[in-house]
Amino acid sequence: MVKSVESANFEGKRVFVRVDFNVPLKDGIVTDDTRIREAIKTIEFIKEKKGKVILASHLGRPKGEFKKEFSLNPVADYINSNFFKVKFVDDCIGEKVVNAVNELKNGEILLLENLRFYKGEEKNLDDFCDELKKITDVYVNDAFGTSHRKHASVYGLPRRVEEKYAGFLLQKEVNYFEKLLQSPDRPFGAILGGAKVSDKIGVIESLINLVDKIFIGGAMAYTFLKYKGYSIGKSLVEDEQLETVKNIYKKAEEEGVEIFTPVDHVCSAEFCGEKEIINDVNIPDNLMGLDIGEKTIELYRSQLSKCKTVLWNGPMGVFEDERYSKGTFEIANLLANIDAVVVVGGGDSVSAVKKTGADKKLSHVSTGGGASLEYIELGHLPGIDVLKE
Ligand code: AMP
Repeated sequence: MVKSVESANFEGKRVFVRVDFNVPLKDGIVTDDTRIREAIKTIEFIKEKKGKVILASHLGRPKGEFKKEFSLNPVADYINSNFFKVKFVDDCIGEKVVNAVNELKNGEILLLENLRFYKGEEKNLDDFCDELKKITDVYVNDAFGTSHRKHASVYGLPRRVEEKYAGFLLQKEVNYFEKLLQSPDRPFGAILGGAKVSDKIGVIESLINLVDKIFIGGAMAYTFLKYKGYSIGKSLVEDEQLETVKNIYKKAEEEGVEIFTPVDHVCSAEFCGEKEIINDVNIPDNLMGLDIGEKTIELYRSQLSKCKTVLWNGPMGVFEDERYSKGTFEIANLLANIDAVVVVGGGDSVSAVKKTGADKKLSHVSTGGGASLEYIELGHLPGIDVLKE
């Protein structure tokens, strides 16, 4: 069990809070503040409990060097203008940081500069972890999206700290994924889409041990259809994965898991050219599949509405193009209206549910794409395991 911040005594302590402020910036302006908003509950809680709040995050991929465009300084300005008072120090380790932390009064908040300006962060180097430890009495993780990585601020530092807790955001993620992995209400359906089978093999294999039904969409559906002997025209296919798909079917049969694949398609002669509806599972030689068709949506709808738990990762088609977005958006709407625990993870499916407004009705929209997939695949994450030690 991870301990929640609610059980902690923060008064007078230096509380290192790993947040995810990896927000999009354009010309130094924050263009989407969702991640900041999501962290506020934990930050305010520690502040009210009179902790000295030290916020630490990464931003982008500066690859271990100071690069101005990846500075968290504009994020500090944005927070000061829009949310709460935060101090900023233009480094994340060293004397300057120790001094800034020493100056903090109870309930004050300090944001450190980008952790990834040091190679030690991503490489989890001992020296870097020891430096972070110098400013930490209590550790809090509220950055689910990086909890699958053994980075210093997510893994090495908490290993060195005795008192460690999950923030509210992380706790919510853990609650949903533990329920999904340990005692899901059944039937349990998983919808998998996106570009490649190869990216998701591990997850599919783990899901077969966990779910009752799997619904395939997106480009990866065509590798499944090709394996089943259907014509897929010019659709994207991973021939080297046909053997994997064969093993997936074999395992699914052994476990009694049903796999559903598209029965009709929205196609085009070229990538995102003029749209052609194909009311058949077979795709003519001159076309490629870019979205699931109406009959498939209906088939998936009838099956999914019987499910009591649904996990969704990956779009059903090239949803960035309106002509090939219907399958993805219909799935989003359908999930908003069924009586089931629905967990959506993965960047594209999350943006689809947000665009349709379905996110407000869903049980849980995960904040971590890679992290949520790895949680399902491995059944645990290093950044969460370390909080249990
Ligand atoms: P992923 O990152 O694996 O979840 O893949 C998401 C991407 O897959 C999106 O950018 C979609 O446009 C793309 N995609 C989904 N369906 C298809 C398809 N039928 N053909 C080509 N690309 C697709």
